[in-house]
Amino acid sequence: MITERQADAANDQLIRERSRTFSAITLPIQALFAVAAALDHEWLLLGLLAFAIGITAYTYVALTRGRERPPLLHTGIAVFIVLMLYLVAFPGPNLERALWFFTLPLVTLMLMPPRLGLVWSATAVAAALALMIFGIPGGEPSHYTAGFILRFTITGALLTAGLYWSETSLRRDRNEMTIQRLALESERERLNSEIARRGMLEKELRQQATTDALTGLLNRRAFMERFTSELSRGQRHGPMPTLIILDIDHFKKINDGYGHPAGDAVLVHLAQLLRASLRNVDLVGRIGGEEFALLLIETDSNAAEPVIERLLERIRKTQVRLTDGEVINFTSSIGSTAVQWGDVVDTAIQRADEALYTAKNSGRNRHVRR
Ligand code: GH3
Ligand code: MG
Ligand code: MG
Repeated sequence: MITERQADAANDQLIRERSRTFSAITLPIQALFAVAAALDHEWLLLGLLAFAIGITAYTYVALTRGRERPPLLHTGIAVFIVLMLYLVAFPGPNLERALWFFTLPLVTLMLMPPRLGLVWSATAVAAALALMIFGIPGGEPSHYTAGFILRFTITGALLTAGLYWSETSLRRDRNEMTIQRLALESERERLNSEIARRGMLEKELRQQATTDALTGLLNRRAFMERFTSELSRGQRHGPMPTLIILDIDHFKKINDGYGHPAGDAVLVHLAQLLRASLRNVDLVGRIGGEEFALLLIETDSNAAEPVIERLLERIRKTQVRLTDGEVINFTSSIGSTAVQWGDVVDTAIQRADEALYTAKNSGRNRHVRR
């Protein structure tokens, strides 16, 4: 919903712009009039004009310096009305000065809210009518003919009514436009936040889809995907990686003896140990319950050997401390294979699996390479 303040601000801006333009246009006209009045020794008119010029110039300067609303707007318009009525009362030999009066509806209706402008303009037309019919109280009788007065009044009334109508519809349209603009802005804001929300959701989902929830390592699918691209990269650019499959020994016993949560704690602990023991470029994934896959990038068997032995040693020595203070030790078995030209993911995995199987069957807690 458009608030009154927003509509007011839009209308204030309109009046500010118009007042400034009006001031700029009417200042030279008023100055010319003042010169003519001085030459004709019309001192009352000159005084009124001097007053009007002062207010107009002040308005122009104030608005140019950034004032929000025209100062002395009502005083200025009142002086202007008096000036116009003066010209109706003293219209000159051919009555032509009275015609300046028709600028009055323009000034009142364009610089004030329509209803107020209507009241001021209609009152001024009525006052002019009275002056034309009765003349100045105590002065000369009126020189206006009935036909002139009729045409003058009809023109004044039509101008007033027409401007009132156009000003009210202009304001209504402006308010509607403001409503639509604000509605569009809020819709755009809503869309932007929805896009941001979905972006975050998508990122979260992508993260969830590639990450193992318990350990934070790559999950099986993500590991295989990354392994596939490493494989083709290695086949294009040289040094091939070494694939390692690591399985915790007798993990079932840990679960049975300490409980499933303790088993989980061991998995998390081992995941951290693996991540911390390898380089950032190496891939570490959890590809089964207590089975991990590691890919040592650009590392042949000879380079991988000491890394793997160090890893086994660290696992042997590690102690998982449970919340109740109990400490779990465990070992693991490793099968490894150097990835070769012509390998696909499955062939490499199969060789490493066979090596792991051999390690398990030959006593566990050891590394076998194929
Ligand atoms: P081996 O030395 O031959 O590998 O014996 P193992 O007991 O480690 O192997 P097995 O395959 O017999 O048992 C693996 C167990 O791991 C069985 C399963 O309940 C457990 N397990 C699988 N996923 C999880 C898990 O996320 N958390 C816990 N706590 N246990 C799990
Ligand atoms: Mg196991
Ligand atoms: Mg297993």
